[in-house]
Amino acid sequence: MIVELINTGQELLLGRVLNTHQQWLGRQLADLGHTVSRQVTVPDKGADIQQAVRESLTRADLVITTGGLGPTSDDLTREFIARLLNLPLHEHAPTLAAIEHFFASRNRPMPVSNRVQALVPEGALVLENPNGTAPGLALHVKPNSFRADEKPTWLVMLPGPPRELRPMFSNAVVPLLRRELPVETEFICRTLRTSGVGESSLAERIEKQLAPLVAAGLELGYCAHTWQVDVRLAARGPGAAQSVAEAERVVREQLGSFIFTDQEESLEAVIVRLMTERKLTLALAESCTGGGMAHRITNVPGASAVLLAGLVTYSNAAKQEFLGVKAETLAAHGAVSEAVACEMAEGARRQTGADLALSVTGIAGPDGGSPEKPVGTVFIGLADSTGVRAEKFFNPYDRETFKTATGNQALEKLRRKILAK
Ligand code: ATP
Repeated sequence: MIVELINTGQELLLGRVLNTHQQWLGRQLADLGHTVSRQVTVPDKGADIQQAVRESLTRADLVITTGGLGPTSDDLTREFIARLLNLPLHEHAPTLAAIEHFFASRNRPMPVSNRVQALVPEGALVLENPNGTAPGLALHVKPNSFRADEKPTWLVMLPGPPRELRPMFSNAVVPLLRRELPVETEFICRTLRTSGVGESSLAERIEKQLAPLVAAGLELGYCAHTWQVDVRLAARGPGAAQSVAEAERVVREQLGSFIFTDQEESLEAVIVRLMTERKLTLALAESCTGGGMAHRITNVPGASAVLLAGLVTYSNAAKQEFLGVKAETLAAHGAVSEAVACEMAEGARRQTGADLALSVTGIAGPDGGSPEKPVGTVFIGLADSTGVRAEKFFNPYDRETFKTATGNQALEKLRRKILAK
């Protein structure tokens, strides 16, 4: 099946907004067994949108457009696709009522311009948008006269804002695809997320053993993030389930505790889940991550059952005042040291009464390094009732990557400690 993706938006071409729809939709579709064969980004101009859609309609079974369903003058997708397909637009009463309700429930008057969002090309299915005003639209172009074989094409239009597009795709488009465009053969996909092992050494551990399965059609893919690698196993056709199950057995045998989840969940979500199950509490003492770990933990629903406090102690004085780090320790070892990381974690645990306390202190750079402690040096401390230990890491990256890597290393250390409890 041929799937094509058309992202609209001048802001994407100007580099002002990162095209996350391409990545997100590509991945969702791949996990459903559909591979996007072509993606194009076009400006929000009627002629450009029409040209891209016309071209995709000559060959694709599924075309997805994103953006341009809003009420403003640069939101042209609905109108220009309707014109391209010679479809009249009709006001859709339930959609108008939903838009009116959207504004009424927020105590805001409805701008007249929003009425345009209730216009639906004749024959289109309306995909509800509980998170915004623009509904999505799905058109079964049938027969599709743009194709030489006149085979039908599904044309799905999704709104631009990710917080509207994502739930709409999961709640409305996935069922539509399952119903209307089922993958012809069995398709099984499994993603195992790992932390703490590099992509190449991970590959070395599993590739030899998976080679026969790969030769027989198993798709093996990696997606490397900072200090985390996802291993994707997929297979099609008869025997797919068996092949993926066998591959998963090999990966689990080789990577064991490096795997932190087989679900769509983040490392911090796993930590909150594990700590909640074990009724453990957490305190954070952060220096160079600047509260980044607390931010990640508090992004997880239910974090309040786990996190007691997060202290961002950036200066030496703050480390002393709020965590009880000793002046002598700072003088003897410096703020970025194993001893200070230990005192930070101990102090956070003492001050909050948490079961576990995690600390980080490091040199993010670009300045502040020395031959003994170059930029990128980090110490991560972890305290519990049995004592405290700190470990040294080296993350010589730009500041943002440094913070992400350090946070991932610290959270991974914490996960291992929790599992050992
Ligand atoms: P609106 O009602 O907000 O106008 P819309 O369907 O018309 O919705 P756009 O105007 O195209 O959508 O985009 C709205 C916002 O969504 C953009 O400002 C941008 O922040 C975000 N957005 C659009 N396309 C993408 C994309 N491909 N990746 C990530 N974000 C996007």
